[in-house]
Amino acid sequence: MEKINISELSLEELSEYIQSIGEKKFHAKQIFKWIHRVHVESFDEMTDISKSLREKLQENTYILKLEILEVQKSVKDGTHKFLIKLPDNNAIESVFMVYNYGNTLCVSTQVGCKMGCKFCASTKNGWTRNLQASEIEGQIIAVEKYMNQKISNVVYMGIGEPLDNYDNVVKSVKLINCPEGLGIGARHISLSTSGLVPNIYKLADEMLQATLSISLHATTDEKRKEIMPVANRYSIKELLDACRYYISKTGRRISFEFALISDVNDDEKTAKELAKLLRGMLAHVNLIPVNELKDGVFKKSKEQNIERFMNILNTSGVITTVRRELGSDIDAACGQLRQKHIEGNK
Ligand code: SF4
Repeated sequence: MEKINISELSLEELSEYIQSIGEKKFHAKQIFKWIHRVHVESFDEMTDISKSLREKLQENTYILKLEILEVQKSVKDGTHKFLIKLPDNNAIESVFMVYNYGNTLCVSTQVGCKMGCKFCASTKNGWTRNLQASEIEGQIIAVEKYMNQKISNVVYMGIGEPLDNYDNVVKSVKLINCPEGLGIGARHISLSTSGLVPNIYKLADEMLQATLSISLHATTDEKRKEIMPVANRYSIKELLDACRYYISKTGRRISFEFALISDVNDDEKTAKELAKLLRGMLAHVNLIPVNELKDGVFKKSKEQNIERFMNILNTSGVITTVRRELGSDIDAACGQLRQKHIEGNK
């Protein structure tokens, strides 16, 4: 019989499992803490669990452990980029960043990505599979152990489209949020999407209190279709309607990500259009100088264009900031390290 990945079970599921093997329910909490809070790698380390139960668990289940294959460290700002091996030998990336409000980890949600955004290296080799919830949480555990530091914020902005792996992503948020485990507050968790409209509605109804980030990057459907194929499925109007629904259900402000690309979307007209689209909405705009990929055609906006874009939005009453560029001396942009790894293996 195939062993169960015990790290994948929520506290409720673990409770049911423990009772199904004839043990007392209260052991579930103890075991859950050992795995998700203490981060043990073997059942023998669970010192308050009887030997017979540990043997039962050992026989029928396993604790997920993700292996770090490579680490790139930025000498400029302490950003660490991790290439992490999954049990089936696929590799994903996680990025550890230091902000004044705490350590943040950017996690992957899929092996590859189907979405085909033109400025992104993660989609180059297509999509292989979804990550399980424990593989998403496992990235935090592996990095906390390596860094010997706590992570207080998690952003789902690594490889993959989180809302295309909806069930596992929502389960992972609940695992990470669980007070008996990592206990990271939902308000410190940010889910990003390229704009899968039906799943934004679904997420709003979960009432998770997580921050939603929308990768917008354009103000007209025509322009958005040029850089993000998802725009062929959902218009900006449909996307913003879903965002308004999310705000009305959760009361949470939405973060709009806007990657500024030279001569594509960094002009005055686009800034004014964006201000018009978002005016009056509980929103924040994050301007991101686009990452220039090795073979990419997109170039980063000039400093003065970024400044002008931000000023137009701020004076229109749309709160806008420019995201600090971290890890510029390493392959910190989403998917670049994995891409190198795949090319190296070829
Ligand atoms: S930006 Fe996100 S959604 Fe778009 S291809 Fe890259 S990983 Fe996928």
